[in-house]
Amino acid sequence: MSPKPTNCAGCGKLFLNPGTGKYCPACKQKHEKQMDEIAAYVRDNPRSSVDEICTALEVKKSLVIDMLRSGRLEEININIKYPCAACGKKISHGRYCKACGKKITGEIAASLRRVRKNAENQKIKKGVYSKDQWMDN
Ligand SMILES: [Zn+2]
Ligand SMILES: [Zn+2]
Repeated sequence: MSPKPTNCAGCGKLFLNPGTGKYCPACKQKHEKQMDEIAAYVRDNPRSSVDEICTALEVKKSLVIDMLRSGRLEEININIKYPCAACGKKISHGRYCKACGKKITGEIAASLRRVRKNAENQKIKKGVYSKDQWMDN
């Protein structure tokens, strides 16, 4: 992907986005530092809540939740509850609660099956269902 000007989601500044995220390099650096602080804080206070972390370190709640969802705090063996990305139910690891995780995995599998089936139907229709095509894929 070629870099394109994007407004940073943190400071609003326009920056050349190489396709690596929604934050400018300055904000990214700031986040990295804050994430280190969060990790250190959580290590010392394994039972703190997301709100406590935000108040103590003056960081954005979304940053802490992003860290939790991406599993960056998992190795510290924390006991923090944060909302499921789909239904908002409190969870302590991963992106989704069990129910949503199951549903979403099911939906992805189903849509993959659909896509594959459509592609196959297309091939049959076009009469390009040859062995060579298979090998290329
Ligand atoms: Zn920024
Ligand atoms: Zn859920």
